[in-house]
Amino acid sequence: MTIIHWFRRDLRLQDNTALSAAARDSGGAVIPTFILDDRLLRGADVAPGRVQFMLECLRELDAGLRQQGSRLIVLRGDPAMALTRLAQDTGAGAVYFNRDYTPAALRRDTHVAQALRQAGLRVQTFKDAVIFEQSELLTGGGTPYTVFTPYKRAWLTRLSAGGRADAQPLDAPALAPLPAAWMTLSLPELPDVAALGLRVTQQLPRGGESEALRRLAEFKAGGALRAYAEQRDFPAIEGTSRLSPYLRFGAISPRQCFAVAVSTLSGDFPAKHSFSPAASDKRKEGADAWISELIWREFYAQILFHFPHADTGNYRREYDRLEWGSSDSALDDERFAAWRAGRTGYPIVDAAMRQLNQTGWMHNRARMIVASFLTKDLLLDWRLGESYFMQHLVDGDPASNNGGWQWAAGTGTDAQPYFRIFNPRLQSERFDPDGAFIRRWLPELADVPLEYLHAPHTMPPHIQAQAGCRIGLDYPAPIVDHATQKEESIRRFSRIARQDG
Ligand SMILES: Cc1cc2nc3c(=O)[nH]c(=O)nc-3n(C[C@H](O)[C@H](O)[C@H](O)COP(=O)(O)OP(=O)(O)OC[C@H]3O[C@@H](n4cnc5c(N)ncnc54)[C@H](O)[C@@H]3O)c2cc1C
Repeated sequence: MTIIHWFRRDLRLQDNTALSAAARDSGGAVIPTFILDDRLLRGADVAPGRVQFMLECLRELDAGLRQQGSRLIVLRGDPAMALTRLAQDTGAGAVYFNRDYTPAALRRDTHVAQALRQAGLRVQTFKDAVIFEQSELLTGGGTPYTVFTPYKRAWLTRLSAGGRADAQPLDAPALAPLPAAWMTLSLPELPDVAALGLRVTQQLPRGGESEALRRLAEFKAGGALRAYAEQRDFPAIEGTSRLSPYLRFGAISPRQCFAVAVSTLSGDFPAKHSFSPAASDKRKEGADAWISELIWREFYAQILFHFPHADTGNYRREYDRLEWGSSDSALDDERFAAWRAGRTGYPIVDAAMRQLNQTGWMHNRARMIVASFLTKDLLLDWRLGESYFMQHLVDGDPASNNGGWQWAAGTGTDAQPYFRIFNPRLQSERFDPDGAFIRRWLPELADVPLEYLHAPHTMPPHIQAQAGCRIGLDYPAPIVDHATQKEESIRRFSRIARQDG
């Protein structure tokens, strides 16, 4: 029986669970299909850069399929209708796809599966985007984990206690050539981003499975994985994998990443490997820390699955009463615009926002700093920042983005206590000690001496003249006073804490 494989967030041939199952069950008679659904291309949170990246992944996928005499059938329109018609035209009897756990995708997939079954097709879905799904890791009481550390412990325990198969990457399957007559069912070629009416202004990483694998190999071979625990927090250093856009679109799988991390550990994994944070071996510390980040990704995916209200609202509902903004909405708009443009007068915040605007990616430490700044210094609703990130991040992922924003805002699961607020200047001094990140993204501060770089408004006038940077003209003075705003933020949060006794 011919089987349609519906590609979505799994844009790769290697280690693709549903694709391999479709090849196995059909003896290779698979119709690889992608649907350009308008929901991917329109709407408030669509990022043109992310669409471009996705199209590059699709182009490479198609090239890989053509090497086997197959090709990617690209359809446009509503997935339920497009897949039903494709099955009718080809005589396919089943549709296979990998599960997506975000609220909008779940709604779509329920509807599509129902329509396909009504049309007499068999529908089979697979775990692929994560190593352990939401229902596989529950507390003793059968409830979801809402705190990361016990979740991580349960994740690692399950892996060691027989879950190794869940983490094992699969080879790319052999697929039969598609009959020539079916080629006409596809759009003749993938459109480029401009043809879709979108304009990309960012310098983005190149999409595709081969680039993802190259980056993963380089992350290990170049030593960044080994040094990850020490280097990951410094945005000026290329100390992280930069694989997030590839994981977002499934150009690489979490199992492939995990396997590389494990390959740097002792050979007896997972039976005896302890993941001890006290380990002295640097190599092991790096891999352990990186594995933790991969687990954070799964943690947030299961949080959004179990608590879909967090998609648009505060995870902790008591914070629905939290006051955002000031009494002057024009001032709030102005502050939000300064944050977006990277003109707040806080160099670490501004450098990070310009990195995002210019490259579609931002370092994790910088994401935490700018998110804290928006919510605790500008006192603006985290949803504004979440949405801006979705419109600009090439790795924009509903679960990780929502989780990260609510963590920083103090309204989320594992949120840091509301009274612990990032001080942007101290963060800057600690994580960009020589100012390399700031100078890279803020050319107007290039000649400011290091002693003033983290707070340029403290430069005396003659130093401003020497550095060619006049505060208020070439670079703004801070748009808010951190100490004052911090106090106000704590006042707002503690009012709710008091009300709730
Ligand atoms: C406010 C905020 C918003 C964020 N929005 C997103 C988002 O939209 N998409 C996204 O993929 N990540 C998001 N993150 C998490 C994190 O910043 C990025 O995953 C990371 O910076 C990507 O860089 P990397 O690939 O070099 O990561 P590495 O450090 O190499 O980590 C490897 C992988 O682990 C995952 N990961 C790492 N850190 C986290 C984390 N804190 N939470 C969840 N997964 C993580 C990512 O898939 C990442 O590619 C956000 C964090 C914050 C604080």
